[in-house]
Amino acid sequence: MAKKVVIVGAGPSGVLLAHYLLQRDQDYQVEIYERRNDPRSISLSKSRTFPLVINQRGITALSNIKGLVEILKSTSLESIGSLNHDKNGKTQLIPRNQPIYILDRTQLVIMLLETLTAKYNSDRLNIYFDNQCNVVDFEAKTVIFSKVVNADDTTNVTVNYDLLIGADGARSQVREQFLSTDQFEVEQKYVPLAYKSIFLPANVISLKPGYIHNWRGSDGIAAILVHRTDGSLSGTVNFPRENNPIENFSTTEEVSQFFSDQFPEIAQILPESEAEAFLNRPISSIITIRCNRYHHGDSVLLIGDAAHATSPSLGQGCNASFEDVAFFDKLLDEYSDDIAKAIAQFSLRRKPDAHALVELSDNAYPLSGKLLFLEFFIRLRFAQILHQLFPKYFSPSFWQLTSESTVPYSEILNIYKNWIAKVKRANEKFLHN
Ligand SMILES: Cc1cc2nc3c(=O)[nH]c(=O)nc-3n(C[C@H](O)[C@H](O)[C@H](O)COP(=O)(O)OP(=O)(O)OC[C@H]3O[C@@H](n4cnc5c(N)ncnc54)[C@H](O)[C@@H]3O)c2cc1C
Repeated sequence: MAKKVVIVGAGPSGVLLAHYLLQRDQDYQVEIYERRNDPRSISLSKSRTFPLVINQRGITALSNIKGLVEILKSTSLESIGSLNHDKNGKTQLIPRNQPIYILDRTQLVIMLLETLTAKYNSDRLNIYFDNQCNVVDFEAKTVIFSKVVNADDTTNVTVNYDLLIGADGARSQVREQFLSTDQFEVEQKYVPLAYKSIFLPANVISLKPGYIHNWRGSDGIAAILVHRTDGSLSGTVNFPRENNPIENFSTTEEVSQFFSDQFPEIAQILPESEAEAFLNRPISSIITIRCNRYHHGDSVLLIGDAAHATSPSLGQGCNASFEDVAFFDKLLDEYSDDIAKAIAQFSLRRKPDAHALVELSDNAYPLSGKLLFLEFFIRLRFAQILHQLFPKYFSPSFWQLTSESTVPYSEILNIYKNWIAKVKRANEKFLHN
């Protein structure tokens, strides 16, 4: 008999998992419930999207589904390195050996949804938008969703499942239910940096396409911009969450002054309209999540950010979420679709890498300190060059390992533990001063 899988969350991990399950030989029937509306039916909402970098890990996971990598490549921008800009307009290049692919999160989800619905019909796949998961009953194996009927009305829908997947992001409602189960532990921490998105129209700035552009201001403030396929730019301005310098801005003049002080290059091309939009855009904070297990009983599993939300500093969260999906699929192979065994093994085997990922992302980059940042840059370039010349004797750089390989995160943490510990000490000192 077909196994009914209910996936909560139509984000990157939930939709990719649907692809994987529906392509298996076993008979899976998939229902996806998403609290937001269908991204295919609305214009790209700028406040809810941000650029995502898909690296080798993500590509490897996508490549198991026919056609996805090709579509990803055709809808994203290829990047071959990062350019660090200093205040005088000089740049430092950090090249990559392999390209990465940049696109908006919403575009990525649309691409995954369109390919999914093109392949499967309602016999095996149903997707319900505007349905928010509110209550999960693990004993009865049911979920209650509140469904938006119209602007002022919602109704409750109860759904049963054989397997429930919590792919509902960092503030997961499914994970919330785990708290009522025995021996479940979760650590939730705020990343010390918060961010605001920024969008610049096409042709306002002569930044080299094909690179991630980074600026470091003072006091832990930084900006990242990348091109979009239409030539415009999007990115984020990051700043310490505590004593946040832009919290009390109330005029566009203050915004312009902030950019002039911190990022003169961006200030020169910041249109008045974007200064205004930036002022009104909400400040977003980010949490990290570490759980002691990702499954419950024989029928519930957390994946993606719901299981291990991480700081975006290394650009790994989505890639790691895609890895989760491919990893779970392998476990289903290994245990002949015995769900209870596969989800228990997922907890056991994925946890070391998920915890290592959070640790690496928290502490890979110094928040402040010119010398430490210089050391970071020198280490990176030396490792790249030495590995290129003597691959047998020198391991790839930290960056290559995280983005250009599928080496498990726990192994990378082991190789680079001294550097990570050093940055962690420096960052803690900076934040507590
Ligand atoms: C600024 C920023 C930059 C980033 N850059 C990168 C990058 O370059 N590379 C990278 O790999 N990662 C990056 N990340 C991380 C990446 O966005 C996440 O890791 C990825 O989106 C996780 O996918 P997910 O599907 O697990 O969760 P999400 O993307 O959070 O999706 C969860 C979905 O569940 C839905 N949902 C939530 N609650 C409910 C509910 N109760 N009921 C029904 N539906 C619900 C949400 O609406 C959402 O659609 C970045 C993150 C941020 C914030």
